[in-house]
Amino acid sequence: MASYPTLNPFDGRDLRTVELMSAVAVEQRLAAAQAAFPAWSGLPLEQRGVLLRQVAAALRTRRDEIQRTMTREMGKLRGEALAEIEKSAAACEYYADHAAGYLSPQPIPTEAQRSYVVYQPIGCVLAVMPWNFPVWQVFRFLAPSLMAGNVALLKHASNVPGCADLIAAVLADAGMPAGVFAVLHIDNEQAAGVLRDRRVKAVTLTGSERAGRAIAANAGDQLKKCVMELGGSDAFVVLDDADLDATVAAAVKSRFDNAGQTCIAAKRFVLVDAIADAFVQRFVAAAKARVYGDPQDPSTTLAPLARADLRDGLHRQVRQSIDQGARALLGCEPLAGTHAGYPASILDHVAPGMPAYEEELFGPVAAIVRVKNEAEAVRVANDTPFGLGGSVWTGDAARGERVAAQLQCGAAFVNSVVRSDARLPFGGTKRSGFGRELAEHGIREFTNIKTVYVA
Ligand code: NDP
Repeated sequence: MASYPTLNPFDGRDLRTVELMSAVAVEQRLAAAQAAFPAWSGLPLEQRGVLLRQVAAALRTRRDEIQRTMTREMGKLRGEALAEIEKSAAACEYYADHAAGYLSPQPIPTEAQRSYVVYQPIGCVLAVMPWNFPVWQVFRFLAPSLMAGNVALLKHASNVPGCADLIAAVLADAGMPAGVFAVLHIDNEQAAGVLRDRRVKAVTLTGSERAGRAIAANAGDQLKKCVMELGGSDAFVVLDDADLDATVAAAVKSRFDNAGQTCIAAKRFVLVDAIADAFVQRFVAAAKARVYGDPQDPSTTLAPLARADLRDGLHRQVRQSIDQGARALLGCEPLAGTHAGYPASILDHVAPGMPAYEEELFGPVAAIVRVKNEAEAVRVANDTPFGLGGSVWTGDAARGERVAAQLQCGAAFVNSVVRSDARLPFGGTKRSGFGRELAEHGIREFTNIKTVYVA
């Protein structure tokens, strides 16, 4: 496959034919990254910070063009795309402000004259990124990594090549030195070759478990560091004392924003019997209000899925769950006459063994699991191969914290939707992956944490 087409998921129209890069073109970018590293890592942090601020400004300048490209390529609602671009710009500024503190040498008292830890850049990092947040996922990695002094190559998802090119244009507009960042339009086999190249020191992936297994195996074979941010099936635990109005509003937002294609979206709604019927009644009514339509139109509140094959895969999971006894309360049939449209959908009485219970539903389908009490809610919340995030909803914050402490995941939120925030570390446990992004933990992932000991 030397080229492939990309389609607009709203109307199915051809957008662009992407030519895969030749071996020579890939080699040029690897060589440029290698050549750029000494000068880039040698720049004082403040100067890298100045450039990151210029990147933030360039993102804002090109905001409308980037938004239209995101919407055309993967169907994101206009408002959601604009918010994502702003969040990405803010992350650049956040790391421009905080990288020096996160990376400053840490003295550690020992019997030595001086002993301390320094955080040194490692070189070129390969980023393999997904389409669901085609700008934010890239900057979540790129802002800290560039501030740490690394250089980066991006292999973006094949359906968002225009987003990848615009990110490269933004960095060029900002005056980023040549070679510090480049986009590779390559397939997965070529990406495996890039990871094997001795000039590439590490890899970060956000994507599916399938991609994670392939890339982590390759990284393991090469003994290269990797960070894996994979799927999730976050529980949204509603206890008997929750404020149902606020909880339902949060549930709808968490499940149906971005057409449900969010790794940390609430996917399994674990409801204690005392409030289950009342919650479900309000949840169905609120979800019904999500209107599918053109993602560029401001009145649309439910976007198409990013590709027709993803919609078909989601529907297979829904069908099979219904065949095994789940009850369809809302939606659960593809929207006729659309290319990749799926309505806001709710499955009740989801139970172990069903895809809606065991697998990630990467689309606008909520799975409801009814439980007797708090203890059973915790057991069900943890009864999943995933461990990305989870939330608990209760009128008693202390009770919420006790439940949060028992959730086997990388981020447990009480009375709040799980979300990423540059100030807080982000990542999973179990099959949701390993390593952390954001905060100080994220910026240190791709550094050499080096001990210096002066006897
Ligand atoms: P993928 O995981 O396949 O895509 C994510 C990225 O990984 C893309 O850049 C993709 O490239 C790349 N990739 C996939 N396989 C390999 C490989 N063997 N070697 C190198 N790179 C690879 O996601 P899909 O688009 O197929 O989505 C399928 C499912 O993945 C979703 O339904 C969802 O469950 C999950 N997913 C989770 C995300 C999250 O945020 N946790 C994000 C996206 C998907 P290419 O596009 O060229 O194949």
